[in-house]
Amino acid sequence: MTDTNTGGDVRLTGISKTYGSFTAVHPLDLTVPQGSFFALLGASGCGKTTTLRMIAGLEEPTTGTVFLGDKDVTDLPPYKRPVNTVFQSYALFPHLDIHENVAFGLRRRGVRSVEKQVGEMLDLVQLGDYARRKPHQLSGGQQQRVAVARALINHPQVLLLDEPLGALDLKLRRQMQLELKRIQTEVGITFIHVTHDQEEAMTMADTVAVMNGGRVEQLGAPAELYENPRTTFVANFLGTSNLIEAAVAEGRGAASDIVVTAGGGTLRLPADRCGAPTTTGGKLLVGVRPEKISLVHADDAGAIAAGRNQVTGRIVDTSFFGVSTQYVIDSPAGSGLQVYEQNIERDSRLAPGAEVVLHWNPAHTFGLDAAQDIQ
Ligand code: ATP
Repeated sequence: MTDTNTGGDVRLTGISKTYGSFTAVHPLDLTVPQGSFFALLGASGCGKTTTLRMIAGLEEPTTGTVFLGDKDVTDLPPYKRPVNTVFQSYALFPHLDIHENVAFGLRRRGVRSVEKQVGEMLDLVQLGDYARRKPHQLSGGQQQRVAVARALINHPQVLLLDEPLGALDLKLRRQMQLELKRIQTEVGITFIHVTHDQEEAMTMADTVAVMNGGRVEQLGAPAELYENPRTTFVANFLGTSNLIEAAVAEGRGAASDIVVTAGGGTLRLPADRCGAPTTTGGKLLVGVRPEKISLVHADDAGAIAAGRNQVTGRIVDTSFFGVSTQYVIDSPAGSGLQVYEQNIERDSRLAPGAEVVLHWNPAHTFGLDAAQDIQ
């Protein structure tokens, strides 16, 4: 079922929200492409719910404009916007059965024949057999799916989801993430999803806006954000980043790589992955994700292919997680570096105390401005 309701992009221009002297959302320009699954991701209090509520019309912006397509909806009340919201607290009517909960929006609009549409919606969320149950007779995940069906029944242009999976246990959360993604693909409308769970945002969304302190620090596809973070906040929020203090040895020259010194050695990184100034001697932080690093015993360092970034160190801790092993390594470049390896045959010499060399493809290295503090 593809929705033919083409509403255009959601566009926020200069949107901000202050409460007294406190700024919850700093002036923000943001475009959410029509038909995309968009996530607002950030820690508690970063302003993501306030941003969502301004799109819904539940919160009045202090400054700025909300556009749905070409239409300025800033002054429209929530019920006049072609937008619907799903909250964490499903907010189902306990005395109505599932069918009537989903039919509610249609009946309120005076639609007489609701059977076909409700049936389609319940099939969409795979609850066709549960139509005559009351909400308390469903699991949390099923209730959440009813809330989604109820929000979609009037064919909004945009569905806003405010931590909709927050009340579910981890396993159910993972199932519902896939389920919501499937539903969004099927209906084809814009979903804007607020979450503090990076894995959730990365699994579900086409585009993620990482918020911090009332600002969007970085916006991009999940893989782009993970592999090429532009700020230390984004690097650390989206996983382990192994940040190493470094100084530029050779800035952007004819070659596309930048050479830096770190812990007595040199490392390379692609110029287009460096978010720091590249004047010689300039300080920066370089990072690499743990699963991009390989580990060998120092005795075998000669076998490392030419051109790889290398850092020496000593293993201080190891943990085994089924197929993968996590190593913690102290090195002259930095302490507490982490490496995740999926070795079928683990080198038995790679135990705490072992002298090792970490090596990786320079293409996986990113550079961050050590002095930067986006405020
Ligand atoms: P959470 O995940 O905890 O809901 P959030 O990122 O969604 O966090 P918001 O709810 O948008 O954060 O709140 C942003 C900031 O604005 C917070 O510091 C919050 O305390 C503040 N805030 C929100 N609503 C009000 C209000 N009505 N009056 C005063 N401050 C508010």
